[in-house]
Amino acid sequence: MDGRDAGIQNAAHLLSNALRGLALTGAGISAESGIPTFRGEGGLWRKYDPVKVASIEYFMADPSAYWSVSRERGGAALAARPNPGHRALAALEAAGRLTAVVTQNTDGLHQDSGSRDVIELHGSGRAVVCLDCGRREPRAEVQARLDVEMPPRCQSCGGGKLKPTVVLFGEPLPQPEISRAFELARHADVMLVVGTSLVVYPAAEIPLAAVRAGARLIVVNAEPTPFDGIAEVVIHGRAAEILPAVAARAVATGA
Ligand SMILES: [Zn+2]
Repeated sequence: MDGRDAGIQNAAHLLSNALRGLALTGAGISAESGIPTFRGEGGLWRKYDPVKVASIEYFMADPSAYWSVSRERGGAALAARPNPGHRALAALEAAGRLTAVVTQNTDGLHQDSGSRDVIELHGSGRAVVCLDCGRREPRAEVQARLDVEMPPRCQSCGGGKLKPTVVLFGEPLPQPEISRAFELARHADVMLVVGTSLVVYPAAEIPLAAVRAGARLIVVNAEPTPFDGIAEVVIHGRAAEILPAVAARAVATGA
C-alpha cells in the first residue's frame, strides 16, 4: 500500500465515523469539469487583470469589460458538468457523512451533482441581477445575448448594469453564508478540504476554526497547502480520482 492508498484508507475511515462532517471546496474540484482556475497554471488571471475585469469598482464604471470576458469564456463555464469528485461529495452527504458543502466556487456544480446543502461563499454564477431595478434572470439567457448586445441590457428596465450574482473583488462576502460556514465548522467532527490552496481569507479560516474546535482535518489538493501540517490526512492528487475512492469506502463503511 503506497502513501496515497494509505491516505485514502485513512480519510475513508475518518469519514465513515463522522457525524457532523463538513466539506470546503475550491476551484481545484471544478478544474476537471473544464472550469478554469483563477490563480494556478493556465489560470484566468494569467490572461486577464482581475482588478479590471472582476472588481466592483471597474464593473460599475464599465460592465462591458466583465461581459466581454464572459462572451469569450462564460459559455464553457455554463456548459460544465459535475465530475466524479462532485458526485462523491453528494454521495457522502446522502449517506449522512457530510452535513454540508461550503464552497468558494460559483459554478453550481455541487447542486447539479445532488448535494443538497451547499453554502456558496462567493455567490452564484448562475444568475444575473439588474442593479437598477433588481430584476433577476438566469445567466444563460444573458450569455445568449452577448454576441448582439454589449454590455447586456435589462429586459425589464433597459438598464446597462446587469451584475452576476457572484462576489466581485472589492465586494463583501455574504454575511449569512460566512456565519453559517463558521457555525458548522465549530461543530464539525471531520473537516474535508478539497481543491483549495487555502490562501484566501476568510475561507481559509474555516478549517482552522474546525480544527481548533476539535475536528480532524483531511486535505485533498493537487499541491501542498499551508494547513497540511495540522491535517491528520493529506492526499496530493486529483479530486476526481481520490474522492470517489474515499467515498466508496466510507459509505460502504467498514473503512
Ligand atoms: Zn432592470
